[in-house]
Amino acid sequence: MLRLYDSLSRETRLFTPGDESRVTMYVCGPTVYNHAHIGNFRAAVVFDLLFRLLRRRYGESAVVYARNFTDIDDKIIKASQESGQPIAEITEKYARIYSEELAAFNCLTPTLTPAATGHIAEMISLIERLVSLGFAYPAQGHVLFSVAQFDGYGKLSGADAEERLAGARVEVAPYKKDPADFVLWKPSNEAEPGWESPWGRGRPGWHLECSAMIEKALGETIDIHGGGQDLRFPHHENEIAQSNCAHAGAPLARYWLHNGFLRMGADKMSKSLGNVALPRDLLKKHHGETLRFALLSAQYRQPLEWTDTLIEQSKKQLDKFYRLLAETGPGEPTEIPESVVIALEDDMNTPEAIAGLHELRDIAMQLEGAPRMRAASRLKAAGELMGLFAHQPEDWFKWTPQSQGDSPGAEEIERQLAERAAARKAKDFAKSDRIRDALAAQGIVIEDGPHGASWRRK
Ligand code: AMP
Ligand code: ZN
Repeated sequence: MLRLYDSLSRETRLFTPGDESRVTMYVCGPTVYNHAHIGNFRAAVVFDLLFRLLRRRYGESAVVYARNFTDIDDKIIKASQESGQPIAEITEKYARIYSEELAAFNCLTPTLTPAATGHIAEMISLIERLVSLGFAYPAQGHVLFSVAQFDGYGKLSGADAEERLAGARVEVAPYKKDPADFVLWKPSNEAEPGWESPWGRGRPGWHLECSAMIEKALGETIDIHGGGQDLRFPHHENEIAQSNCAHAGAPLARYWLHNGFLRMGADKMSKSLGNVALPRDLLKKHHGETLRFALLSAQYRQPLEWTDTLIEQSKKQLDKFYRLLAETGPGEPTEIPESVVIALEDDMNTPEAIAGLHELRDIAMQLEGAPRMRAASRLKAAGELMGLFAHQPEDWFKWTPQSQGDSPGAEEIERQLAERAAARKAKDFAKSDRIRDALAAQGIVIEDGPHGASWRRK
């Protein structure tokens, strides 16, 4: 029984998709004009976990997960004007980096990754429908959504109209009938990218992009819509307004999920505060799976404070699990232990699921022989559902931080190990000890076993 907290009804509800053979999820993706920070990655990792839970329950081919790229936006235009680099070059570069970095976090590739610029015709068609239905009006090259026309406006964010306006610092502009009206389309000057439309050359508003991509990729009503908590207003409120009005009141999503913020000290990690840590830098020092574990250490709706200690503790815990898996070998496919499934299906209670992993390890540690191997296989299966234990234990322990520049690479270590083996064979123990000590000084531990020596990083 998968239960999820729905931010729209404000209750935890049993999850029932509209169609079990086609379960749909949409998550608002990045605006690709610079490097994402680790706070931005929290949503991607949380919804990757949900994608995995849905696939387990409904089958891999039954779940359609779309995460978009916003590749047209004022911030991108500004970045292009400042750097002189063409927009497409900037957006392609950062979309590629984003996908590569998420792969290092063991995130599965979503089923669909629509880009806004690939859906301009769909966006124009959606705006035309809203205008003809009386929910939107053109004014001075813009098209605006008329908030007063939609009764349900504000239901998701809950704030009253005045608070909303203050919170969003909505632009008061002469072409707006009401300051709360928001832009569906805006004109582009000659220096700005634009597309021909019934309202002149221009470009879409950000909120509209998602409504159009969802309609095209997934349909009118999707099962799950996700994003960071700050997207509830105005972004998701406006997506709801556009989609409901274009679809005769059909709800946009059955379940709305919002993840809490990653914090640095007391503050939200954010570009504008300048208190960000970038996956790009973190991945040089830490394994992506360690960072994933750290992001999953708190339940997704809770705030999570990003600290060095959190990363260190995540690494230590994974080391413990991997040490058992290294000892017991690859194991056999087995059912995923109920305790962990129940925790994860309880609105993704990851702290409880991680406690479950520790219990499974403790059980294995008390056993020996085949029962120990079976218990370890159960641990592995449970971790894999969370996107953990994705690596061979040998590779896990051999992984080196890039920033540890003087530590020898795997090839060099293998070479020294061979040299040491030759020295031992020739009974030159002084030399073999020297090699062992030199490696130990560089944090490389050698373990002699029945099949020769193996190594790992301390
Ligand atoms: P922004 O870069 O602020 O436009 O945010 C892009 C996405 O990352 C949005 O979905 C935000 O909700 C999310 N986000 C930004 N900062 C954080 C944070 N500190 N913690 C969690 N999510 C965040
Ligand atoms: Zn969106």
